[in-house]
Amino acid sequence: MEHKAGFVNIIGNPNVGKSTLMNSLIGEKLSIITAKAQTTRHRIMGILNKEDYQVVFSDTPGIVNPHYKLQNSMLNAVEEAIKDADMFLLVTEIGETLKSESILQHILESEVPVALILNKIDLVQQEEVEAKIAYWKEKAPKAEIIPVSALHNFNLEKVMQFILDHLPESPAYYSKEELTDRSMRFFVSEIIREKILLHYQKEIPYSVEVVIEAYKEEENLDHISALIYTERESQKAILIGHKGSALKQVGSEARKEIEAFSGKKVFLELHVKVLKNWRNDANMLKRLGYDNK
Ligand code: GDP
Ligand code: MG
Repeated sequence: MEHKAGFVNIIGNPNVGKSTLMNSLIGEKLSIITAKAQTTRHRIMGILNKEDYQVVFSDTPGIVNPHYKLQNSMLNAVEEAIKDADMFLLVTEIGETLKSESILQHILESEVPVALILNKIDLVQQEEVEAKIAYWKEKAPKAEIIPVSALHNFNLEKVMQFILDHLPESPAYYSKEELTDRSMRFFVSEIIREKILLHYQKEIPYSVEVVIEAYKEEENLDHISALIYTERESQKAILIGHKGSALKQVGSEARKEIEAFSGKKVFLELHVKVLKNWRNDANMLKRLGYDNK
């Protein structure tokens, strides 16, 4: 039987629904999703395995202007994603328009097959969807335009069809058992980070990084110890909250989700530590796993 396999890069501006789309296509919550922009800092692979094909998705961090060093590293991840792709799913949300000189435009003009995913159509009337399709047909004549709702699983079979139509004949790149290139440690830190994004306001979510210090697997229980780095003492105090109440809430919600994800009971310990200006410190970024070139 003919076997297909290839790399599908999901790209687009922050908050358009890239992670939601990847999760819906794969059927797993691999990539954390929240309403705050720039949730996805690292590139995350998600693998869809079927008997006669393997699709390796890569969820790219949102396209942003380099401002902090951290964002430079995000942009590197985007450029890396442009190389080696068999096709792109370029995600836009319904209200969006094409900016000239943008990375989106750059991709639309490349030779790689592009599906322009018009996401969040559940938010508007049919006429607006049609007007938007016409707009993108003119702006991106080479791309296939697919209106969807990633959140409500609407029209995603069209996206799958586009992928299968353009997937090269190839043996699988990864073991068919694998769902992602990321470790359980990575998912645990992302789940904790997601809870922080949900519970705190303003700059707090963007000033933290989560590092897993210890991950001890026992037969019936995993012991996980995580360090939450912040940039300032004042942020540390907010994170911890009155008598530790805020951190406790984060820990309890994260633990439940880790247990659901791993299918195992978890003992989760959280500590907060100040690491001055980690976001602008190249060495620190390297230690925390951002390959900032
Ligand atoms: P990313 O930054 O592009 O990865 O975007 P996310 O996947 O994290 O989604 C950002 C926000 O948009 C989240 O609040 C999602 O629930 C929401 N969202 C994603 N897809 C849809 C959709 O089809 N319809 C609606 N109404 N919201 C969506
Ligand atoms: Mg995302």
